[in-house]
Amino acid sequence: MTIDVPQNILDALTDVDMPRLPPEIAAGETMRLAGIDVPVYRAGCVVVGSGAAGLRAAVEMKRRSDDVIILSQSAWGGTSACSGSDKQTLHTANTADQGDNFKAMARAIRAGGAMDEDTAYVEAVGSARMMATLQFLGLPLPQDPLGGTLRYQTDHDEVGRATSCGPRTSRLMVKVLAEEAIRLDVPFYNHTTAVSILTRREGDARQISGVLAIRAADRSETNPFGIALFVCGVLVLAAGGPGELYRDSVYPNGCFGSLGLALSAGIELVNLTESQFGIGTRREGFPWNLSGTYVQSIPHIYSLDSDGNEHHFLAQYYRSTQEMASNIFRKGYQWPFHSTRMLEFGSSLVDLAIYRETAAGRRVFMDFNRNPLPVPGDEDFDLQRLDDDVRHYLGKAGAGQELPIQRLRHMNPLAIELYRRYKIDVAEEPLEFAVNNQHMNGGILVDVWGRSSLAGCYAIGEAAGTHGVTRPGGAALNAGQVFGTRAAEHIGASGKAKAAPETDVSDGAEACVLRLLDTLKTDSPLTAKAIRSDVQARMSDRAGMICDADSVAEALSDAKALNAEIRERGIGYDRPAEAARALQWQQMALASEAVLTALDAFISNGGGSRGARAICDREGECLPFDRSGPLDDYRFRREDDIHRAEQIVVRLDADGMMASTRLIRRFDENAKSFFERDWPAWLTGHIYDLGSV
Ligand SMILES: Cc1cc2nc3c(=O)[nH]c(=O)nc-3n(C[C@H](O)[C@H](O)[C@H](O)COP(=O)(O)OP(=O)(O)OC[C@H]3O[C@@H](n4cnc5c(N)ncnc54)[C@H](O)[C@@H]3O)c2cc1C
Repeated sequence: MTIDVPQNILDALTDVDMPRLPPEIAAGETMRLAGIDVPVYRAGCVVVGSGAAGLRAAVEMKRRSDDVIILSQSAWGGTSACSGSDKQTLHTANTADQGDNFKAMARAIRAGGAMDEDTAYVEAVGSARMMATLQFLGLPLPQDPLGGTLRYQTDHDEVGRATSCGPRTSRLMVKVLAEEAIRLDVPFYNHTTAVSILTRREGDARQISGVLAIRAADRSETNPFGIALFVCGVLVLAAGGPGELYRDSVYPNGCFGSLGLALSAGIELVNLTESQFGIGTRREGFPWNLSGTYVQSIPHIYSLDSDGNEHHFLAQYYRSTQEMASNIFRKGYQWPFHSTRMLEFGSSLVDLAIYRETAAGRRVFMDFNRNPLPVPGDEDFDLQRLDDDVRHYLGKAGAGQELPIQRLRHMNPLAIELYRRYKIDVAEEPLEFAVNNQHMNGGILVDVWGRSSLAGCYAIGEAAGTHGVTRPGGAALNAGQVFGTRAAEHIGASGKAKAAPETDVSDGAEACVLRLLDTLKTDSPLTAKAIRSDVQARMSDRAGMICDADSVAEALSDAKALNAEIRERGIGYDRPAEAARALQWQQMALASEAVLTALDAFISNGGGSRGARAICDREGECLPFDRSGPLDDYRFRREDDIHRAEQIVVRLDADGMMASTRLIRRFDENAKSFFERDWPAWLTGHIYDLGSV
C-alpha cells in the first residue's frame, strides 16, 4: 500500500488561509472615565476570544438572534489557529463501524477522576452533533466510501474515537466557524485585549455589566493606552489556556488565557493542578506536538552535550532494543507524560529521560534518517523485533520501510510538509525537541451549561475547567464546541442577550480604569519582562511534571511575594503600547499563584501523583527503574483514590487566594429519559434551570 497524495492536497491541509474580517463598527458613544475619553461599545453578549470555542459560541448565539460581538487579542492567534500535531485530533463518538455508546464514552472521558460525571456525559452525547455541524460548515473530516468517519486510537482512548483533518484540524475549525460568523455579520473587534471584568450589584445579586479592553485602534492623545469599554449583559470567556505560564511550553507565543482576569472578578477556578506535559518543539521555534506518526515511525532519539558529543541516552533506561523502540512508538498514542507509565519500563520513561537530559544542559533530537541504535549488548533494531501491539500497527499501516523517514512519509506525508513550511526539513536534518507544558485541564468552574460562579458570565473552551485529571486526545476541541453550543443555547433561552443593555455603568467603570492606571507606572522597576522570567522559570523548574512538596511550597511563597510587589509597585512600561501586555503579566502572576495554591493544598492534603505530574517523595510507594537499577530521585507518591471524587476550587477574595474542595457531580447511568414525561421541561425551558441566571 502506498499513499501518493498530490502536493496541492497536502498544501491545502497545511497552509490554511483565514478569511478577511469585516470592517469594525465604531463606538456609539464616549464616556469620560478617570480623566480619559473612553469609547463605549454595547452588545447583548461579548465573547472574549476568537478560537474554535469562542467562534462556535458566537455563531450559535447569532443563529438564535442574540446580539453578540467578538473581541480578540489576535483574530487568528491562540492555540486553535496556531497549534497542532501530526494528526491533530478531534475526539467524538465513533461514527463508523458499530457506532458508539455515549455512556461508555463518558466513562472514558472522565476515567482519570476529578471530573464532573454529568459534564463528561454532556461532552460525549454532544460530540456527534458538534461534529456533524462542523461537517455541515465544511470541515473536511475524512470518511470511508459509505460515510463513516475514519478513526484511530489516541491518548487515553482504548476504543479509537479519534479523527483528524491532518496537522491543522483546529485551524480548519477556526476557518469554517469564522467564515460562518462573517456570513452571519457577527461584529468583530480585533487587536482588542480584555483586561478587566465589570460587575454591578453586590452579594448574590452581583452580575456582569461589561468588560474593559485595550484597543490599539482606540489610542488617542486623550486615551494613550486605548482603553475601551464594552457594556454587556452577558460575557463569554473563551480566551484559551494560560500558555505563558511555563518557560518550557509548546503553546504558541502570547497565550495568556483568562484565569487572572476571572480571579480578579472573584470568579471560582477549578482543577488547576491538572495540566498536560509532553514532547514537542518549543515556541522559541515552531511549537508543535510530536505525537502520532512522528514517534510511531520510530526515529532515533539522542542528545548533544555542549562539546557536541552525541549521547544515546535512552539506551541507559530500557533493557532491550525492542523495549526501547516499542516505547518510542507508544508515545504516539500515550503522548502526555503520566507518572505510572514511568513504572515497568513504560512509555513515560522516555519523557523522564528527555527531561533529565534537558535539565543537564543537553539538547535532544529526533533523527528520522536513523533507526534507533541498539541498547548495549543487544541486537540491532529490527521491525520484526517489536512488541506485538507495535508490530501489528506498523504491519497494518504498511509501514515496513527501512528508515523512519520513509515510514513517516508513508503513514503521514503531511507531518513532513508541516515542518517544511517552517523551514525545517526533517527528511534532511534531525529535529530538536523537549518535554513541554501543552494544556490546562482546569480553569473556570462551570456547570453543565458553561455558567461560571458569576451571574451572566460563561466560560468555554480551554478557559473552562471542564476536564478531569486526564482527557482523551481531542477531547479539548470537542469540549470547546459542545460547551460553546450549550452556553449559546442557555444564553438564548435566558433572553439576556437579545439587545444591548442601556445600563449606566460609569461608576464601576471609573473604579476599574483607576485600578488599571494604578498598576501601570512609568517609574516602577518591575517590568513585564522581569515578571515573565520569574513566573515562567518558577513554574517550569518547581511545579512542572516532576515536583515535590517542598519545591511547590517554596514556589507558592515566591509567587505570593511577587504579587505583593506588583500590588505595591505596579508594573513599569516604556510606551503606552505596552500596557496590555503589562496587565496580562499582572494577571499571569495571579494565575500562577492560583495554580501553586491548588497544588500546595493538594500535596499538603496527601495528594499523590496523577495525570501529568509526579509528586516525588522519599517515602513514596512507587519507584521507577532504569536498566541499571532504581531511580531513587524519582520515587513518587501513589495517587490516593479518594481525590478522584473531588476537585480543588480556588478563588481570590479580600484575604488572598483561598483553596477549598468540592465533590464532583455524579451522573446516574440508569436514569432514562421518557418522552411524554420529559417533553414539557424542554417546551417550557425548565431544562435550562434559569432561576439562578
Ligand atoms: C501543540 C498543541 C497541540 C494540541 N493538539 C490538540 C489536539 O490534537 N486535540 C485537542 O482536542 N486539543 C489539542 N490541543 C489543545 C487545543 O488546541 C486547545 O485546547 C483549544 O484549541 C483551545 O481553544 P479555545 O478556543 O478555547 O482557545 P484558543 O484557540 O487559544 O483561542 C483563544 C482566543 O482568545 C483570544 N484572547 C486571549 N486572551 C484574550 C484577551 N484577554 N482578550 C481578548 N482576546 C483574548 C486569543 O486571541 C484567541 O483568539 C493542542 C494544544 C497545543 C498547544
